[in-house]
Amino acid sequence: MVSGLATAVLGRLEERLPGRCSTRSADLDAASRDASSIPGVRPEAVVWPLTTDEVATVVGLAHEHSFPLTARGAGSSLEGNPIPVRGGIVLDCSRMTEVVAVRPADLQVDVQPGIVYGALNRRLRAHGLFFPPSPGGSAELATIGGMVANNASGIYSVRYGATRDHVRAVTAVTGTGRIVRLGNRCRKSSSGYHLLGLVVGSEGTLAIVTKVTLALAGLPAARRQGGFGFAGAEAAAGATADLIRFGVEVAAVEFLDARTLRALNRFGGFGLAETPCLLVEAHGS
Ligand SMILES: Cc1cc2nc3c(=O)[nH]c(=O)nc-3n(C[C@H](O)[C@H](O)[C@H](O)COP(=O)(O)OP(=O)(O)OC[C@H]3O[C@@H](n4cnc5c(N)ncnc54)[C@H](O)[C@@H]3O)c2cc1C
Repeated sequence: MVSGLATAVLGRLEERLPGRCSTRSADLDAASRDASSIPGVRPEAVVWPLTTDEVATVVGLAHEHSFPLTARGAGSSLEGNPIPVRGGIVLDCSRMTEVVAVRPADLQVDVQPGIVYGALNRRLRAHGLFFPPSPGGSAELATIGGMVANNASGIYSVRYGATRDHVRAVTAVTGTGRIVRLGNRCRKSSSGYHLLGLVVGSEGTLAIVTKVTLALAGLPAARRQGGFGFAGAEAAAGATADLIRFGVEVAAVEFLDARTLRALNRFGGFGLAETPCLLVEAHGS
């Protein structure tokens, strides 16, 4: 059911984003959930902007009419992050997929927020670069905007850090529809409040990110992966600390306890030894 206020706003949204504003039941259902089992909440409309100016228009209208607005990427969150709390408009960034500029010499890329993590890294491969903080199992779903908003981190964060460590600058739209640019392309930058650090990880509550400058890493010349069994969990934890302390270039360390291994064997028939185990990946030359 579309409220009177929504009807007035909808007319203006359709005018400004022709063909990219929907109240179709299937679209509202899709925007009501994420990948968790948290019950969905339907918005009253979904919009798909393509540019910063369009995002500013939508946010400005929501502000003017006191309408709830929820940003959305791929909806792959596991904690209800993109689920609307009180209906309103879902601003879906998944069509903002442009790679605006690749600067290989600076190890940087500028992207719109809707590009998917896996797709971005395929584009960067030709330059021998990659954006490291992998969101693991959702790499082919998660958008860069969603990763920035969630400060996503994953198996490679032990070496390369989380998304926050790679965001050099963003263009963002604040709650009144004002366009701001936070951060800059330089790593050496110390003046003023760290507003960029505040926006990264704010789950769309402070601003909608419409362009991101990411610092990249060189693709490792060699990767080695191995699994190591331990007598107990404490020994595995101690070995992890030693690996890092003694400078082994570990890119990823994942711990599986005996119970998890038993479950894997039971459901997947892997025949793994059922003792605590570290899965290690090292990057180097
Ligand atoms: C199988 C699986 C494995 C996963 N593994 C990991 C993992 O290892 N590490 C990890 O961190 N996460 C993981 N996730 C969770 C999730 O995939 C990531 O956090 C991902 O970054 C979310 O991106 P998204 O595009 O789906 O964002 P969404 O879920 O759509 O949105 C996430 C948040 O970002 C906000 N948002 C979206 N776009 C913008 C924007 N442009 N500006 C401002 N706010 C915005 C939304 O309002 C919401 O609060 C996993 C999920 C699955 C299903």
